Amino acid sequence: MSRFDTIVMVDWSGGNDRGAVPKPDAIWAGVVRNGVEEEPVYLRNRQVAEAWLAGLFREEIAAGRRVLAGFDFPFGYPQGVAGAVTGKADPFALWDWLEARIEDGPQRNNRWQVAAGINALFPGVGPFWGNGTRRDLEHLPRKGRDRRGHGCAEFRQVETLAKGTFSVWQLAGAGAVGSQVLMGLPVLARLRRRFDTAVTVWPFEAASGQVVLAEIWPSLIRDAVKAEGDDIRDRAQVRLLARAIARLPEAELNAMLAIRSDEEGWILGLGHEDAQNAALAPTLHPPALKDDCFALPPGVDWTPVPEALARLRDILHPVVGTETVPLHAASGRVLAGDTRALRANPPNPNAAVDGYGFAHSATGDGPQVLPLVRGRAAAGLRYDGTVPPGHAIRILTGAALPEGVDTVVLEEDCRSDARHVAFNGPVKPGANTRKAGEDVAEGDVILPAGHRLRAPDLALLAATGHGVVPVHRRLKVAVISTGDELREAGDSADAGQIYDANRPMLTAILRGWGHEVIDLGRQPDDAGAIRRALDDAAKADAVLTSGGASAGDEDHISRLLREEGRLSNWRIALKPGRPLALAQWRGVPVFGLPGNPVAALVCTLIFARPALSLLSGAGWQEPLRMQAPAGFAKSKKHGRAEYPRARIGADGRVELFKSEGSGRISGLSWAGGLLELPYEAQEITPGDPVTFLPYAGFGL
Ligand code: AMP
Ligand code: MG
Repeated sequence: MSRFDTIVMVDWSGGNDRGAVPKPDAIWAGVVRNGVEEEPVYLRNRQVAEAWLAGLFREEIAAGRRVLAGFDFPFGYPQGVAGAVTGKADPFALWDWLEARIEDGPQRNNRWQVAAGINALFPGVGPFWGNGTRRDLEHLPRKGRDRRGHGCAEFRQVETLAKGTFSVWQLAGAGAVGSQVLMGLPVLARLRRRFDTAVTVWPFEAASGQVVLAEIWPSLIRDAVKAEGDDIRDRAQVRLLARAIARLPEAELNAMLAIRSDEEGWILGLGHEDAQNAALAPTLHPPALKDDCFALPPGVDWTPVPEALARLRDILHPVVGTETVPLHAASGRVLAGDTRALRANPPNPNAAVDGYGFAHSATGDGPQVLPLVRGRAAAGLRYDGTVPPGHAIRILTGAALPEGVDTVVLEEDCRSDARHVAFNGPVKPGANTRKAGEDVAEGDVILPAGHRLRAPDLALLAATGHGVVPVHRRLKVAVISTGDELREAGDSADAGQIYDANRPMLTAILRGWGHEVIDLGRQPDDAGAIRRALDDAAKADAVLTSGGASAGDEDHISRLLREEGRLSNWRIALKPGRPLALAQWRGVPVFGLPGNPVAALVCTLIFARPALSLLSGAGWQEPLRMQAPAGFAKSKKHGRAEYPRARIGADGRVELFKSEGSGRISGLSWAGGLLELPYEAQEITPGDPVTFLPYAGFGL
């Protein structure tokens, strides 16, 4: 039972007030509430922090949310210390003992005196050391090596396993934690008292409270913190720890919280570092594409389509980071990680029909007459009593099975007055009931990373307890049309001009695929104008241009990309579609599509779709291929793949558009997809099986 709605991770401080401007070495708190990450909170001193924590706990408890609150200091001392100091081997006795003695204010506190006082209770010198004040204090040595004969263990058991932890006895010096413990435990003792049974303290108590306090140690994720590059390390630590814990699979967090300790305490997540780092991995900003990634090996001539696709697939990788969005806004978005059920479906054993419920063991063959208990069980209206064996209860579809009920008989198979129900036995045990988790068990992976969410997936996510979803940021795709002859749809045009048909088509396709479109309009065949447009487009994650992509005089896109970007004209053995220009402009991949709308569409569907999908985090996508009999005869040449416009006719056969001319835009609308004819020569006669790629399979 470790489902937490709110994760708060606190980086504590044993020092004085740090001022109004956020600084390192103050107290910082990272919060993830209902899966949504909040900006870490700067808490300038412990008084401010205590008030903030109390307010947060009060608010979350009132809202019915469960809180896991982590603090980066030991919750206990080595075995035996609590008993030696307080007379009781109880860590909370030590918390209260300290709370009664520590005096704390923004500018001064008495931790040195309290530590010296504890030392005085033990023989010899120590165990506390590291007097950080100018005045010498009796019983508190300055150096650790000055100690002797105090009889306390230097480390807790957990610290012998966690490399790099400091001893609770060291009060001063870089990395020391002793002062934080002395100045932290009294605050926790007060919070614990104030919220009473709502708070439990792990691992001394089970992690069952509405608020669970736990000891954490941010060094478990030190590499991710370093990679974050925040100049305030405490801020990065709490942000990432809260994120990691919030994203952990339920079973992992349960395993972490299964540890118990009587007195010393434990570090939450020790031994589970891999899971925490894995939870953070998708958010590390993905690296840019390799420079010159589109370069083809020298001497390559017409590349067959499958080879070109395999190359693209090799070169590209996801380039977008992640964000969390509310479930209702998640349609079309790409899951950033494997998603597990936060709750079972159904959560309870329940009735699958309207009828009467009872214990199967008290029924038999032949006519059955069972007395009815008063009341009924309905969905959302739990019957709290127990149904005795040999009795029945009126029950409606979706109602949780009451205590004593394991079988339901269908209303239509019964006769009933208000007091009895009669039906014919035998009834199958468990009939008409649904078992808890029979559909999905808590913790099951329900959807994999990279899955693009569709409406039915939202139902599954909602049913299994998700209100928010971690997804990839949308891929930004810039679209540019080039050509002096182009006019905007709807404007006036003279006989020498044509309307820009590619941009409305391409922007609509990209939006349909879930990408964010940056429409950069039409550009004349002018190097300066195209350069400016490409510079503008470099804010996107990818660019689609159309026109000017071959090697002619006016093919400025090719020339510019060759001279100032990194261009590779991929001569792909494909019809329709002249060379596909693949290039990088300031590191951003550019797909230079042919100007012809028919060729532009084919190149977009066959090449840009899987490539953009890979960049967007959704993985490589194959088109949907259907086998159907040919409704035509065709003799196809060897040496290139062809994708003519096609559709399935009323007789279930594949028909071809009357012309293969790539200027025939009407054929794009006539068609319901593309025919796929591979590289080799082929003699097709009517009735032969052929491969049809429906538009719908491309997401059109
Ligand atoms: P290009 O690749 O620039 O040589 O263009 C090839 C053919 O496609 C020419 O007939 C162009 O006029 C035409 N074309 C280029 N861009 C578009 C566009 N955006 N819409 C419609 N036709 C275009
Ligand atoms: Mg042109």
